[in-house]
Amino acid sequence: MLADTGLTRPETALEVPSPAAWSQRIAALGNRFFTELPPSPAPAPHWVARSEACAETLGWALDWWRQPGALDVFSGNALWPGMRPLASVYSGHQFGVWAGQLGDGRALSLGETMTPRGLWDVQLKGAGLTPYSRMGDGRAVLRSSIREFLCSEAMHALGIPTTRALCITGSPLGVRREEMETAAIVTRVAPSFLRFGHFEHFAHTANDDQHEALRELADFMLRHHAPECLAADNPYLALLEKVARQTAELMADWQAVGFCHGVMNTDNMSMLGLTLDYGPFGFLDAFDPGHVCNHSDNQGRYAYARQPNVAFWNLHALAQALLPLLNDNSEAAIAALEPYKTVFPEALMRRMRAKLGLATELDADRSLVDDLLRLMAAARADFTITFRRLSRFDAADEASRHAVRDLFLDREAFDAWALRYQDRLAQEGSVPAERHARMLATNPAVVLRNHLAEQAIRRARDGDFGEVQRLLKVLASPYDEPAVAADAAFPPDWAQHLEVSCSS
Ligand code: AMP
Ligand code: MG
Repeated sequence: MLADTGLTRPETALEVPSPAAWSQRIAALGNRFFTELPPSPAPAPHWVARSEACAETLGWALDWWRQPGALDVFSGNALWPGMRPLASVYSGHQFGVWAGQLGDGRALSLGETMTPRGLWDVQLKGAGLTPYSRMGDGRAVLRSSIREFLCSEAMHALGIPTTRALCITGSPLGVRREEMETAAIVTRVAPSFLRFGHFEHFAHTANDDQHEALRELADFMLRHHAPECLAADNPYLALLEKVARQTAELMADWQAVGFCHGVMNTDNMSMLGLTLDYGPFGFLDAFDPGHVCNHSDNQGRYAYARQPNVAFWNLHALAQALLPLLNDNSEAAIAALEPYKTVFPEALMRRMRAKLGLATELDADRSLVDDLLRLMAAARADFTITFRRLSRFDAADEASRHAVRDLFLDREAFDAWALRYQDRLAQEGSVPAERHARMLATNPAVVLRNHLAEQAIRRARDGDFGEVQRLLKVLASPYDEPAVAADAAFPPDWAQHLEVSCSS
């Protein structure tokens, strides 16, 4: 039996050739940072879906899953030689309140494998109880696993930094949520799953003079994930600034594509600026800046328009956590976050210019963008469809103009905006065909709207995983017009009643 966990190792790890060699760098830091334990077996496992794109990223052969034991490994029933599973400890602020110790309550890192992009951590999510499971059961249900899997790969295809998803396995094992569901395990991969919350944990659990663990973790992060910061006068400040800049770029990505994360707690914030922990996320359908995608978020703390400020708030929590390494110099810490205030708006403006097909920069572009968003909000125009139709907008082509105009309630206000837009395009000598091509490669046709995920989930619950795999393929080319027009169409009426919550 493993110390303190009440869990036992599987009898024998399968002795089969592994597709890769495995390491676990964090293990060298010692068990203050994690607990080693095996996954809990999921009975009678089956494959639900696999991402070839993710396998390619890892440098794995596309038939990696035919390796002996692969299904058992990725359902928590076996380990390949060299894997060293562990759950890490972290804390965090949830909905603005210090939540104390959290940790990998159902995630388990199997180990790190060498990829063409360096060492990547391979993690099972939903692989059973860990010492950090608190009141949870350590499991994840099929529904939320499909959402995480599809969205991870969709975000990557959109060019947005994210943890990736290799596969989902399922099991008839019953899992109780609002009703009985079945268990699934997503395998996620990323260069690192370190979160703001990992640093908050060691800042809060030590006395003022006991911050060696915090320093060890920060040094680990610097060494392996931010080596360029080591050359700075103060590497910890440089790290903080780097995270602030990456997070600013990520927020600009989210806002520009209409992505709402839903649970931007500090324990869900990646130290690498990746989109992390897909739960009750959503893409905007009808544009509403105040849209709250998480049904459990009663206060609307994580509303779409608030995300950039929340990220900045979260960065302050990270800065606070690093203070013991900065001689408590809070001014220096706050100064390291300062770039966020310029990087975010500039990054967003860059993306919005691209969404409008503007090749040059003018000060007045800001109001052009803001006024369009205002009109969209007033009309509750569909976020994705508006920009997609705008990508074919040509003043000289009545049909293309009307396709956009029809999305607005106040048609005259739109006409006035369109005239300004036309003038702006003329000012830079914009060539319609070139602009259209650029915009169609910037404004996606397909995003993972809730109802698309829901359709795949409903079929999967009936044992048909074809729709998950089909959707995965469509989402892999989000800028192409999909073969099935409904994938890029307005959400159907029934989608209005879909609710996603923290239940997963
Ligand atoms: P989340 O809201 O999914 O980011 O999770 C917040 C915390 O709760 C993390 O520490 C998770 O590991 C933990 N958690 C969520 N669901 C479960 C579960 N079913 N079993 C154990 N821990 C869980
Ligand atoms: Mg989480």
